Amino acid sequence: CPTIHRSFAEQAARAPEKTLFDLPGGRRITYRETGLTVQRIAARLVAAGVTPGDRVAAQVGKSPEAVALYLATLQLGGVFLPLNTAYTGAETDYFLDDAEPRVLVLAPGGEQRYPARRTAGLVVETLGTEGDGTLLSGTDRHEAVHPVADGDPAAILYTSGTTGRSKGAVLTHGNLTSNCRALLDAWQYTAEDRLIHALPIFHVHGLFVAVNMTLVAGASMYYLPSFDAAAITALLPRATVLMGVPTFYTRLLRSGGLTRESCAGMRLFVSGSAPLLAHDHRAFEARTGHAIVERYGMTETNMNTTNPLTGGPRKPGTVGKPLPGTEVRVVDADTGERLADGEAGSIEVRGPNVFSGYWRMPGKTAAEFRPDGFFITGDLGRFDEDGYLSIVGRAKDLVISGGYNVYPKEIEELLDAHPKVAESAVIGVPHPDFGETVVAVVVPAPGEEPTERELLEAVAGDLARFKHPRAIRLLDRLPRNVMGKVQKAALRERYRDLFT
Ligand code: ATP
Ligand code: MG
Repeated sequence: CPTIHRSFAEQAARAPEKTLFDLPGGRRITYRETGLTVQRIAARLVAAGVTPGDRVAAQVGKSPEAVALYLATLQLGGVFLPLNTAYTGAETDYFLDDAEPRVLVLAPGGEQRYPARRTAGLVVETLGTEGDGTLLSGTDRHEAVHPVADGDPAAILYTSGTTGRSKGAVLTHGNLTSNCRALLDAWQYTAEDRLIHALPIFHVHGLFVAVNMTLVAGASMYYLPSFDAAAITALLPRATVLMGVPTFYTRLLRSGGLTRESCAGMRLFVSGSAPLLAHDHRAFEARTGHAIVERYGMTETNMNTTNPLTGGPRKPGTVGKPLPGTEVRVVDADTGERLADGEAGSIEVRGPNVFSGYWRMPGKTAAEFRPDGFFITGDLGRFDEDGYLSIVGRAKDLVISGGYNVYPKEIEELLDAHPKVAESAVIGVPHPDFGETVVAVVVPAPGEEPTERELLEAVAGDLARFKHPRAIRLLDRLPRNVMGKVQKAALRERYRDLFT
């Protein structure tokens, strides 16, 4: 497969005046203009000493030029390393020590940071969101494209750090292109599409799903700095596709502008990165007439499964079926034996989308792969009789109480269905008798103040005794990261002493 950079260059040659970025305020940037920016940035990176295999780290705001930086890195055979802009001091230090980039790109004003690292050879460049920064200050252009093989690294993406310290996942050109092709096919994404892009671009979802697909298809995107319900609803009549995390959809549902009419021209709404509640899926369909396509992926594997565009139902609460070329199995975590449909176990994945390993963590890499090449995702799930996968939680969030497995999702679904509950998170906390016991953290619906007793009574009838929450705590909101993932580790920490 041609690389993402090569596919982009082909689109730029085929339709140079086509809009790639459609920005708030009406500014547009074409494929041709983006191609020139890519070459200018590539020249600057070459001047900074970037050679094939070198890491180029970027901790910058979302801009069209940040995408050009990604493409320029690929053009040179470099390894792109986007960093969450929320990371500060010690966190960034960990990534820089770990990845040892040749170049670090920061927001303007960052030139003088990291003096010791600069003395040691790190080149610091800047890139702003207004077309500013040292990275864009030159006029030279670099046109040569470094030839790469499918197995060569294209990017290191750090996992979200939901279950522990972030790990650098090394993704190859083959990982990116194969997954991009599979998704283009599955979602019938073409040059005619106009995507609303409101995700951050330092994660798989915003960069490898949304941006790669747009570049390779030769499509256009309404490129927003971040989620903005009013801006998105205003764009819906002109767009065809929205890719979002579940909180996008819950927030859109709360905003007035979401109607059947405003969504009449839309053909696809995609959700992923965290579970979309079946209830929200149904509410969205009732309001707009569109069934959201939920898919499942992770930093290490890109996308694994998706609900169908055509040829079958989009089942609320499921993440659909494996993408063509990707094998997904559910096994007993201890024995590695395949489980029957309906039984929950460890989700494992094999295919051209699966990463080559964790950066400089051979032990960790070896531990997460089975001898037959399947990657142990760390997620738990089950297949239904039609081959649809449901995620029931993460292995690390599984509660083992008195020797019994408790899947948090089962209890969360019951609590979420209660009219006085907006959402919930079920965790295990240390308990002297049971090892661990179940605690439910509940966000009340607006204006409601449910009592512990009434919530317990509401769910108890549907749950075996060992699954009953031993405590229910109310919070105004659940701790979440930018991708909308609930930080259960933070909740476990907060309530760890409840029974000890
Ligand atoms: P870390 O690995 O550092 O603990 P993380 O797993 O949250 O963090 P990511 O790679 O960004 O880091 O997220 C992948 C995870 O997101 C998956 O393993 C899965 O748990 C969750 N996820 C993604 N899509 C879905 C979905 N549609 N439904 C439920 N969970 C999902
Ligand atoms: Mg993970």
